[in-house]
Amino acid sequence: EQTIGDCFDAVAARQPEALALVSRHEGVRLTYGQLQADANRLASALLRSGLVPGDRIGIWSHNNSAWLLMQLATAKAGLVLVNINPAYRTAELEYALNKVGCRAIVAMARFKTSDYLGMLRELDGQLPQLERSYWIDVAGQGADEPGMTRFSELLASGDVADPRVAEVQRGLKNTDPINIQFTSGTTGFPKGATLTHRNILNNGFFIGECMQLTPADRLCIPVPLYHCFGMVLGNLACLTHGSAIVYPNDGFDPLTVLQAVQDERCTGLHGVPTMFIAELDHPRFAEFDLSSLRTGIMAGSPCPIEVMKRVVEQMHLSEITIAYGMTETSPVSCQSSTDTPLAKRVSTVGQVQPHLEVKVVDPASGAMVPRGQSGELCTRGYSVMHGYWGDVEKTREAIDTEGWMHTGDLATMDDEGYVNIVGRIKDMVIRGGENIYPREIEEFLYRHPQVQDVQVVGLPDARYGEELCAWIIPKPGQALTEEAVHDFCKGKIAHYKVPRYIRFVAEFPMTVTGKIQKFRIREAMSEELS
Ligand code: ATP
Ligand code: MG
Repeated sequence: EQTIGDCFDAVAARQPEALALVSRHEGVRLTYGQLQADANRLASALLRSGLVPGDRIGIWSHNNSAWLLMQLATAKAGLVLVNINPAYRTAELEYALNKVGCRAIVAMARFKTSDYLGMLRELDGQLPQLERSYWIDVAGQGADEPGMTRFSELLASGDVADPRVAEVQRGLKNTDPINIQFTSGTTGFPKGATLTHRNILNNGFFIGECMQLTPADRLCIPVPLYHCFGMVLGNLACLTHGSAIVYPNDGFDPLTVLQAVQDERCTGLHGVPTMFIAELDHPRFAEFDLSSLRTGIMAGSPCPIEVMKRVVEQMHLSEITIAYGMTETSPVSCQSSTDTPLAKRVSTVGQVQPHLEVKVVDPASGAMVPRGQSGELCTRGYSVMHGYWGDVEKTREAIDTEGWMHTGDLATMDDEGYVNIVGRIKDMVIRGGENIYPREIEEFLYRHPQVQDVQVVGLPDARYGEELCAWIIPKPGQALTEEAVHDFCKGKIAHYKVPRYIRFVAEFPMTVTGKIQKFRIREAMSEELS
């Protein structure tokens, strides 16, 4: 029933002296009491600036303390925080800000080669609803920006004990939208999922329960805050349990993660599979003392068993789990718990979370399929988003009249309720009446010693309906031929699963979050073959 602000205030009142945040690259350390004071001050400043509850405000920044403050302050002031991907460029920024009508934005000045303020200036006149821009004055980036206000000045203009903040906070409902998050854009254009206090606060709380977090825990969060993984499974899981948040760096860098875990004696570590791989394979990995680690989450894309085993054995993450979900479900629907047997924990995405429902249905008929058989995963409960911002049509396609969110993912569920993600429906190929899961072919081809990476898609075909196509990145210095790949398949997989088209490439089309966009592979092939 609570809002994010109420829940946070209760925890802060209980343990004002406890450590809440360590932001290593900024040299910031805040207790719960200090974080609460700053959040109240910022909420006051935002309301004094003329914003009213329900207004949208963007945050365009890598991980830092301002991001966390914005998350808490907007929740208290009833403003809708819009997460803008730090990798966005002008066209994407314009689309996102105009789509949801942001009245204000808080942006980093620049990061490496990205000039955030320069891009905002370039769009001058094309963002009709944007009235104010604030820039996060990170140390060493001191220049004044005409027409824009420093974040530190904004913060200073607020009052810690502003009665208006308390009044607004009291008037909020936990079903109010509080956040708009764009999906990754793996299957097309990113969609803005509107999430409420109830959605993400519950999700963060139950994740913290799964991880058995307490005020003694310190969670290292290298995943970006602009995505649910960082802001919900990271920030909110900690804040609902009185644990400390540790940001190792602004962008991802394996060395600073290892250093942060050692220096801060972190007990938890989050990451997408590629992050854990980069940490494990770092040449200096063995130098670090990671013995404080206990728990964490691997999620976001298929989590290879081998990588899970390595983090359990080599990083002391004996209680790590895989989580499955999507932006539209706040994000998690399935996760293992600490007492799930290790074999299940490394090979499945776990069981349905408390107070949520999950079912596997035949995508055509909507009827549930027997256990063990694959179908579309549907989920229902507190986690399901309010809807896609400003898109009733798309919302209706995704959430049915009974409240089930159709995930678009193909899954199986075993007798004990453990779920396996087989692939995405959009990626499933039907060739001559046979259903083919690209992931199965990818995993097979992956075993070829000269294959570094592989993606398999279906292409329209007059004779068979669809034909398989494989894009392969060969290992450096290896000359792989189509013939060699065909020979490798012969006799080992059914003839209809052998890709008709094979192409060797240097890289795959990717989203800004690092996910592979198969629809672009299909586009490129249809151009080539037409
Ligand atoms: P878009 O919806 O814009 O095409 P997206 O679906 O990749 O992009 P996200 O909401 O970030 O955007 O990702 C959710 C998807 O990620 C899920 O639908 C699922 O396909 C995949 N996913 C998440 N966790 C896992 C996991 N543990 N195992 C396999 N796939 C996963
Ligand atoms: Mg999606």
